[in-house]
Amino acid sequence: MGNKTYAMIKPDAIRNGYMGKIIDHTINAGFKILGAKLIRLTKAQAEGFYAIHRERPFFSELTEFMSSGQTMVLALEKDNAVSDWRKTIGATNPEEAEDGTIRKKFATSLSENAVHGADSDENAKIEIGFFFNDSELISNQ
Ligand code: ATP
Ligand code: MG
Repeated sequence: MGNKTYAMIKPDAIRNGYMGKIIDHTINAGFKILGAKLIRLTKAQAEGFYAIHRERPFFSELTEFMSSGQTMVLALEKDNAVSDWRKTIGATNPEEAEDGTIRKKFATSLSENAVHGADSDENAKIEIGFFFNDSELISNQ
């Protein structure tokens, strides 16, 4: 059993038609999908999820964007899931992301950067709990 991380395919990537390609990239990078849902976050959910950034100047832009359309929420499993997923997605700003990363391939800008990744095991657990019940997380091993 590997570690878990929490990921999202953000509204820009879904609007741009990249949902399937990003799921493919995720599976090819060795992640098991334990849970997946296509939802639209409310503004309040986006504000709760990104509460850590509430004092930042981009908070309103970020939460408007995250509630602007469909988001796919994902619970992923792999050894070193948190750090490997951050490597797989690349830098926050797609212009700085390495070639071959999801953000380099599919993101549009710093604010519309295609995917999310939890930044620690602790936050991964909290973020998975934000969107999934235990019964929705199925290991196929
Ligand atoms: P995420 O948490 O979405 O995986 P991250 O951990 O790489 O991204 P954070 O610093 O947590 O980056 O920022 C959260 C999100 O806020 C970023 O993914 C980006 O969409 C947005 N963001 C960050 N900095 C800026 C900025 N300066 N201007 C606009 N949006 C920003
Ligand atoms: Mg972050």
